[in-house]
Amino acid sequence: MPIRPLSTLLINQIAAGEVVERPANVAKELIENAIDAGATRIEVLVNGGGRERLRVIDNGSGIPVDELALAVSPHATSKIDALEDLDAIATMGFRGEALASIGAVSRMILTSCTPGSSEGGRITVEGDRVDGPEPAGCPPGTTVDVHQLFARTPARRKFLKADGAETRRVRELMLRLALSHPSIAFALVSGDRTLLDLPATTEPRQRVLDVLGGELDDQLIEVDASDAEASIGIWGLVGRPAVARPTTRHLHLFLNGRPIVDRSLSHAVREAYRGLIDPGRTPTAVLFLELDPARVDVNVHPTKTEVRLRDDRLVYSRLHRAITEALAGHDLTASARFPSAEATGPATVSTRREFGARHESTQPMMPRLDGQRGFDVDEARAMMESPEAPAPSLLASTPATPVIQVHGSYIVAEDDEGVVIIDQHALHERIMFGTLLDRVLQGTLDSQRLLAPAIVETDTEQLDGLDRIGPLLARLGIEAEVMGPTSIGIHAIPVLLLERNVDIVEFMAELLAKAGSGSLPPDEEAALQEVLDMMSCRAAVKAGEQLNELEMAELLRQRDLVERSSRCPHGRPTTLRLSLEDLEKQFGRR
Ligand code: ADP
Ligand code: MG
Repeated sequence: MPIRPLSTLLINQIAAGEVVERPANVAKELIENAIDAGATRIEVLVNGGGRERLRVIDNGSGIPVDELALAVSPHATSKIDALEDLDAIATMGFRGEALASIGAVSRMILTSCTPGSSEGGRITVEGDRVDGPEPAGCPPGTTVDVHQLFARTPARRKFLKADGAETRRVRELMLRLALSHPSIAFALVSGDRTLLDLPATTEPRQRVLDVLGGELDDQLIEVDASDAEASIGIWGLVGRPAVARPTTRHLHLFLNGRPIVDRSLSHAVREAYRGLIDPGRTPTAVLFLELDPARVDVNVHPTKTEVRLRDDRLVYSRLHRAITEALAGHDLTASARFPSAEATGPATVSTRREFGARHESTQPMMPRLDGQRGFDVDEARAMMESPEAPAPSLLASTPATPVIQVHGSYIVAEDDEGVVIIDQHALHERIMFGTLLDRVLQGTLDSQRLLAPAIVETDTEQLDGLDRIGPLLARLGIEAEVMGPTSIGIHAIPVLLLERNVDIVEFMAELLAKAGSGSLPPDEEAALQEVLDMMSCRAAVKAGEQLNELEMAELLRQRDLVERSSRCPHGRPTTLRLSLEDLEKQFGRR
């Protein structure tokens, strides 16, 4: 075939392939146009998942009749004018491609009226045919009516999912755009069903609740960390650890009002929750970043969900810090969950009496103080106290007073909000972790030489491991060297591990195997945290270990000093709280 220029239709259809993959992308482009036009209400109607018909109606600034033909031609835009404009994009659109592309793969009717003019206009695009503009009466604003999407591009049509699935994508896309535009009302109607009806609000928090669900109201913590000097604005709401999700669907990032997908910034959010949630979960978070548009390149990909930041490390660290600080300002103790309170109302009165009667003869519970060896308080203090204990959180409530150890594993105590139940192993693990980390970072972790080296029998993989983590071991005060073809001698270890009777040979064998098989994180700080994690787990009191009153008191005292005490380093709760309020409800006292 000789070389020929492509027809305009084919050019547009190719361009359409980049921006309009499915009905949700069409909706995205049209809604973004409506946002750029200053609309305060945007309505989307879909039939057959949007492929039969998809209509977007706005009450924005409209398009003058004599510009309608330009609006639907490729590379025509009112939003940029010169290359410099690309350096500071403040609108959602700028490529001047969307309307032309959509018209190329559907039958599109564009009707628009500018406020103040008595009459508007209409133009119809079908493939390479453009009809109009003709006069049309309409309320101020723009309606784009897209029929038979992809009818002439069957290849694309084949990849669409069932109607319901396509409609859901449209809905999700709208929810995302709605999050960052609370002052715009959004509605979605599919056939005759209203799937979305979000009233305009001046409160960004209200919009987040309308989108994510009102039940999250008391689970969201505000992040507000604008930094004039670095000219970075950060505002948002982040969920308590309890509302972290197994999928990433509740993590929403916005940059200058635009929903973005950014691995590095998502990572910053996850890192801020390190040790508060299970690493397999994703925090619930809605975060809005505002940066000088000149520092952002949104012209990376036609769909504009990826961005490039001029100073991404700075933004990463500010975001990380903002969330960390917001979380540190809140008591994150998990509340014990009851099945929804049934114990109210007349029907349950008799049950309650029976319950009381059965327990009348029970002796008052007394702390059990048996003589079994737990750990010595002074020793505990010596090993847990960091040289510079972190200041207790501003919001720390009165310290909990221990009441009793139950099943040799849990400590029950009271604080000013109710009753707390503590997993002794998980809490001690968190305390050990915090102490060890502090000391390593400050270079005050004491280590002790062993009289005779402890010998670890190893395989080649473990010997490799020793090579890989040599510097890390040195920071931890662990001296180890190869003693023979299959053995490693341990000459010195942290005093803490000795004091807690940790089996050094077992610990080192596990650590070296991990290092040798490459399952430690490559980043040294992350690897350090993981090793400290292993140490704390082995050194912490075990479930089933009896503790005396002083030992329990010491644990609780440390709980108030250490950061993130509500969760163990793996993100599991250390503490559950039954609030007085819940107790009263459950016992029918209110
Ligand atoms: P872009 O948004 O990148 O400029 P589009 O093809 O989406 O390109 O739109 C072309 C032009 O049509 C826009 O620049 C704008 O001037 C006008 N336009 C499109 N949709 C609307 C709308 N809903 N209200 C007002 N003007 C619109
Ligand atoms: Mg556009």
